[in-house]
Amino acid sequence: MNNYANVKCPSCKTVIKMVVPTNKCIPFFECDSCREIVTSKKKCCVICEFSDTKCLVSHEIK
Ligand SMILES: [Zn+2]
Ligand SMILES: [Zn+2]
Repeated sequence: MNNYANVKCPSCKTVIKMVVPTNKCIPFFECDSCREIVTSKKKCCVICEFSDTKCLVSHEIK
């Protein structure tokens, strides 16, 4: 069973469906639409910063 996050590209606002990994963070991703490399700066990963959900790693840390 996979968890999915809808990650929104801050440059072109395209929403990208991404699998949420259970054991690591995703610090950056390449946007499918504008090819921008989107990097998380404020939070632990792009899922926490740019999507409607949170990564599983941050849930375990608390
Ligand atoms: Zn984009
Ligand atoms: Zn995170």
